Amino acid sequence: MNNHTYEVAIIGGGVCGTALLYTLSNYTNIKSIVLIEKEADVASLNSHTNSNSQTLHFGDIETNYTLEKAKKVNAGATLVKNYLLTKDREKKIYTKYHKMVLGVGAEQANKLKERHQKFKQLFPDLRLIDKQEIAVKEPKILAGRKANEEIVALFTKEGYAVDFKLLAKSLLDNSSNSTDKDIKLLFDTKVQQITRADELYKIELGDRTIRAKVVMVAAGAHSLLFAKSLGYGLDYALLSVAGSFYFAPGLLKGKVYTVQRKKLPFAAVHGDPEVHNSAIARFGPTAKVLPMLERHNYTTICEYFQTAGLSLKAVLSFLKILSDPIIFKYIAINFIYDFPIIGKRLFIEEVKKIVPTIKLNDLTYAKGYGGVRPQIVNLNTQALEMGEAKIVGNKIIFNITPSPGASTCLQNALEDTEKLIGFLGDGYQFNRTQFLNDLSTQAATR
Ligand SMILES: Cc1cc2nc3c(=O)[nH]c(=O)nc-3n(C[C@H](O)[C@H](O)[C@H](O)COP(=O)(O)OP(=O)(O)OC[C@H]3O[C@@H](n4cnc5c(N)ncnc54)[C@H](O)[C@@H]3O)c2cc1C
Repeated sequence: MNNHTYEVAIIGGGVCGTALLYTLSNYTNIKSIVLIEKEADVASLNSHTNSNSQTLHFGDIETNYTLEKAKKVNAGATLVKNYLLTKDREKKIYTKYHKMVLGVGAEQANKLKERHQKFKQLFPDLRLIDKQEIAVKEPKILAGRKANEEIVALFTKEGYAVDFKLLAKSLLDNSSNSTDKDIKLLFDTKVQQITRADELYKIELGDRTIRAKVVMVAAGAHSLLFAKSLGYGLDYALLSVAGSFYFAPGLLKGKVYTVQRKKLPFAAVHGDPEVHNSAIARFGPTAKVLPMLERHNYTTICEYFQTAGLSLKAVLSFLKILSDPIIFKYIAINFIYDFPIIGKRLFIEEVKKIVPTIKLNDLTYAKGYGGVRPQIVNLNTQALEMGEAKIVGNKIIFNITPSPGASTCLQNALEDTEKLIGFLGDGYQFNRTQFLNDLSTQAATR
């Protein structure tokens, strides 16, 4: 094992790392791959069942997505959907629910009407529905509202709640272990350091060192720290936005989103029935800025500050972002949502935007739930970058995956596989056509 040289090393066994292993092992002629995960199991952090909103985001009801962005996310989410339809016939990983985004008042209603016109070609199942139909689909949404309030919704029955941890397990189980391949899984193994020497990457694991020709760092927020240690991504820092949830039973039949707010990615509250229990809805996520790379793991505070760099440029960027009154007010109030007693009393006002008649007793703080969205701060523009960040270095890729990173895990795997094959050079091939055929709608409906 010592000094073993792999063709590819994947650092991080979340849904993205396992999607890449699945793709590399089944659709390329790469022979030796090592996946290194510091926890005892796959998907123990952001991809864990309890950490995220369990939504397969297609871009149809996410009103902060432009048409361009929605096209990309839709393509990625469709790969995951087709994977699930093909490999999870017993529906253990996902549950299908209807979903909608609610427009309340003339301004939001007009926004949704315009959006429908623009997006209906991309999403033929998306329908604009009126009050009467909303009342049938989700009776609790209309109870207690003013009779003359304008309300519409963009509705589709194509909603998927996904247990991304089980998806990661499935991707791992379906990775090829054919005898001509050397696929090594190292759990409970933390990568301490990555360095480059003699045209290879040296990966320090504490008790041993392994080598790899090319490396994929799929370690969520930790990816940026590794990038910086190798001189990449120096113009980035992270705003770690922790998300908490509140549970409420028996209120919703499907996923209900609200119109997203400008400047604030994924800030608007939504209600999502649990993937494995339709009787309980999860409302959230909140957005609490914390100086940590991992939720509930205080040992990552130090790593957070190492990632931020604490340079003048970083401090100025954070100050600029936080001096925006909309962002500041939002961050301040979200901080309080996690407080006992008062948090619930404030957060209920957000939930009332979906279920006006909800009572305090209906809400329970989901203790221990919620991960951290690593939002990218660009130190040059001093602004938040809303998408995912991929830093490509010399035969190494670093993925930092805020939401909807789980929905696009197979799309990322496809793009990263192409890059990694390119890094490896002559003689290496990726059977992209087979990958896309196996995850096509035809394959899923066979
Ligand atoms: C509140 C919230 C709600 C969200 N809702 C959604 C949603 O509804 N839909 C959606 O698509 N996305 C959602 N997301 C985003 C989604 O959860 C992430 O994009 C996705 O899980 C990222 O997967 P990943 O594999 O990149 O990272 P992770 O799941 O975080 O995996 C990274 C792995 O790297 C490992 N690692 C880190 N450092 C090391 C090291 N030094 N050595 C070895 N291993 C290491 C970690 O242990 C971890 O297992 C949400 C996120 C949050 C926080």
